[in-house]
Amino acid sequence: MSVVVQKYGGSSVADTDKIRAIAEGIIERKKTDPNIVVVVSAMGKTTDGYINMAKSVTDKPCKRELDALLSTGEMISASMLAITLEALGCKAISYNAYQLDIHTSGNHGKSLIDDINVDRIQESLDEGYVVVVTGFQGINDEGDITTLGRGGSDTSAVALAVKLNGKCEIYTDVDGVYFTDPRAYADAKKLDEIEYEEMLELASLGAKVMHSRSIELAQKYGVEVYVGRTCGTVKGTYIRGGKNMKLEDKVITGIATSDADSSITIKELDMDNVSALFEDIANKSISVDMISQTAPIDGKLNVSFTIPKDEVDECIELAKKYTSDENVAVDNEITKFSLVGLGMKHTSGVASKVFRIFKENNIRVKLITTSEIRITCAINTSDKEVAIQKMCEEFNV
Ligand code: ADP
Ligand code: ASP
Ligand code: MG
Repeated sequence: MSVVVQKYGGSSVADTDKIRAIAEGIIERKKTDPNIVVVVSAMGKTTDGYINMAKSVTDKPCKRELDALLSTGEMISASMLAITLEALGCKAISYNAYQLDIHTSGNHGKSLIDDINVDRIQESLDEGYVVVVTGFQGINDEGDITTLGRGGSDTSAVALAVKLNGKCEIYTDVDGVYFTDPRAYADAKKLDEIEYEEMLELASLGAKVMHSRSIELAQKYGVEVYVGRTCGTVKGTYIRGGKNMKLEDKVITGIATSDADSSITIKELDMDNVSALFEDIANKSISVDMISQTAPIDGKLNVSFTIPKDEVDECIELAKKYTSDENVAVDNEITKFSLVGLGMKHTSGVASKVFRIFKENNIRVKLITTSEIRITCAINTSDKEVAIQKMCEEFNV
């Protein structure tokens, strides 16, 4: 009998009333789908609260201990859901990463799932239990608790669906995936379906409705992911690929924005030092995203690039090795504004339309990167709202 993996996000398990509502829904669903595995996030804003608590002690909490702290949030919600299901007369059992050997590798705070031993889950399902699993966490080679990165419970759910050969349903606080964040543009249209590639781009570029690595996994193993509202009645969005999609692609499927980066501009950099600078940055594991540089004049050039805001200080120190202090400028008020659509591959004139709209609305584009299915522009954060509105008026159709 097929397995259904459901995931409930933080706002969906924020208090005991909400947990009870979910439990009632699960009991109803079990009548038609007896094998249910539920992945939960931490209750409400618990994870933020724990991060703030650690940071009230030190700016840079030890990463191993921070993971140990954060993982407790999901343990509470998993056991609370199992307690509630049992109280409502439904057999339920919760498991954490240790109990299931959710094996991870890589760094604390952004570890990757290598494998999950699903034997215990399978046994419990065979015995008629609803199985509740802690999202967002794993155990590494040293036997230490790791976390997968913010929003990582989506990835836990897709990984379990892969291992259990099951369906994957993500329940959250909106009706599905929209053209853009419905909180930023109230008239954004909900999408019935979206291609893996497009969802992956949108998620990587700031659409936090899905953890981007969950989409990578889903695409790799061909798992269709349904996104809908917790206890909602409106039909949500299917994330899927290729032959199951409509024949023609839309030119622009969605817009994502991110304020997570700053831009750094270095003037009068000796052209021979460019590669050394970027090597230094890479050696510190700082991820550079958008880059542009001017043509060299007398062997000197200007280079601009974006990096995550919390890595700016470290990056400035590196840059100062190669130029004087006054030649390094930081802009913390930038927004990465991205338009994504598979139809861009075979439609010309999209970029010119985008730039025309920016120009007509006096929005200055500071940096640009493109791929076959995406245009990303760094703009001033103060222009974000207008940019969303104008681009939605043009493309949200
Ligand atoms: P959960 O706690 O359930 O994982 P998240 O807060 O991580 O929920 O993700 C849901 C939020 O994602 C929504 O409340 C919405 O504001 C935001 N979001 C951003 N982009 C989109 C989009 N394109 N479609 C739907 N929601 C989006
Ligand atoms: N609780 C974690 C977070 O807030 C994981 C998740 O919600 O997916 O990031
Ligand atoms: Mg989330």
